Amino acid sequence: MEENKTVLVTGGSRGIGKEIALKFAKQGYDVIINYVSDKTDTEELKKELEANGGKALIVKADVTNPEQIENLVKTAIETFGKIDVLVNNAGITKDNLLMRMSEEEFDKVIEVNLKGTYLMTKAVTKYMMKKRQGSIINLSSVVGVTGNAGQCNYAASKAGIIGFTKSVAKELASRNIRANAIAPGFIATDMTDVLSDEIKETIQNQIPLKRMGNAKEVAELAYFLGSEQSSYITGQVIHVDGGMVM
Ligand code: NAD
Repeated sequence: MEENKTVLVTGGSRGIGKEIALKFAKQGYDVIINYVSDKTDTEELKKELEANGGKALIVKADVTNPEQIENLVKTAIETFGKIDVLVNNAGITKDNLLMRMSEEEFDKVIEVNLKGTYLMTKAVTKYMMKKRQGSIINLSSVVGVTGNAGQCNYAASKAGIIGFTKSVAKELASRNIRANAIAPGFIATDMTDVLSDEIKETIQNQIPLKRMGNAKEVAELAYFLGSEQSSYITGQVIHVDGGMVM
């Protein structure tokens, strides 16, 4: 019997990451996700992910902690033997205007979003290189392309992810490992739920499709980029933004 493919989705316990994990699970993948919060109901999540036949492994690991990452990747390899697809989805915001932004707010966002992506990619790529196969998908953002007032830390981290993705794509292409970035626009999740109705309405009015996107719409692209259907696509930044940036 052919063995299942495996995907590791960071921050896959909620929001966009959870929808990505569910999409791969529904397509028969074994799924590994990490989480940071003690409140995560891992048993419930495991059941939900395994409802379609594949297996799920849920490990507590912070993407800024190299020891916890090593444990996460080692446990994944011991359990499933390989990681075919890595989705660097974990991310945070700490918005403030430049003049009010503390060094702590700046550093933390760069640490989780950009350095976390580097640490995870390095740890997983080691195993992908041995298999001479893999697909890496990094969650950037439209603001990494356009910039955004009040988000200089977040926009810098997401622009950094684009440069990182293109470099990794060039470095690893000869090993048959692809790397692409997804730039979501305005997607309804906990991250955007904190915005006031007024801000939401203003943003929606600037989107040609006149609505927020949903996490499932991002998951569809992530699945395509992870699958063999996208075998000739690498080093790209693909927007899922209702036409917000063109
Ligand atoms: P979310 O806040 O709902 O989920 C983020 C996930 O990352 C959570 O599971 C959280 O536990 C995890 N996480 C945070 N810090 C972590 C750490 N140190 N280690 C491990 N995991 C950690 O956010 P979301 O809206 O689902 O966003 C997912 C990704 O998509 C993020 O990278 C975000 O920047 C990006 N994105 C979101 C939007 C949007 O509109 N929601 C737009 C563009 C890009």
